[in-house]
Amino acid sequence: MSVSSAISEFKINLPPHVTLIAVSKTKPNELILDAYQGGQRDFGENKVQELVPKFESLPRDIRWHLIGHLQSNKVKYIAPFVYMIHSIDSIKLLKEVNKQALKCERVIPVLLQIFIAQEETKFGFSFEEARAVIIAYNNKTFPGIRIDGIMGMATNTHDMNQVRNEFSSLRLFTEEIQTSNPEMKVISMGMSSDWQIAVEEGSTMIRIGSTLFGSR
Ligand SMILES: *Cc1c(COP(=O)(O)O)cnc(C)c1O
Repeated sequence: MSVSSAISEFKINLPPHVTLIAVSKTKPNELILDAYQGGQRDFGENKVQELVPKFESLPRDIRWHLIGHLQSNKVKYIAPFVYMIHSIDSIKLLKEVNKQALKCERVIPVLLQIFIAQEETKFGFSFEEARAVIIAYNNKTFPGIRIDGIMGMATNTHDMNQVRNEFSSLRLFTEEIQTSNPEMKVISMGMSSDWQIAVEEGSTMIRIGSTLFGSR
């Protein structure tokens, strides 16, 4: 099956308020173009060194989402064009994105990555740390960024109750931060293995790779 038909089929079961990000990491331009020709515009990549050449050779109206851990020294390569950075996981990175955005005279939409999983390998803020970042942001310390919401990854487990609880905690946190900033509406949660639960728990953006493009 082509990627574009996989996407059409996938979208049949997706509520219209949920944005589908097609995660194209490690996949060649031909497959991305196939999806593009079928109407897909939001694509997710996790590495700067892969994203930049794809941006340069693919249609300019693609909305590129950076979803993987981002090193501060690489922000400058994507700041001119990135549509949204989902993986803000430190104050240092947030400040660098702010700085590079101002250099490009733009405001970059970002999400705060929240660490919810019972795993040591995943990046992100605790809820407590994220609250502090949002207070600073609400006080207008970062004119080059716009925090649109949060992103999180659930534990890689077969225990779907745990996954559901983790997603639910992200939604509750979003409701909390919306009381001080109603603009923070995006909840980026859900991948191929757990997106249905994520959507049931309030996800507004899902990041789907292998289900659309095949395994990596
Ligand atoms: C790779 C990746 C995805 C997509 O994973 P699949 O299981 O292939 O759907 C989603 N989010 C992030 C952060 C990723 O790195």
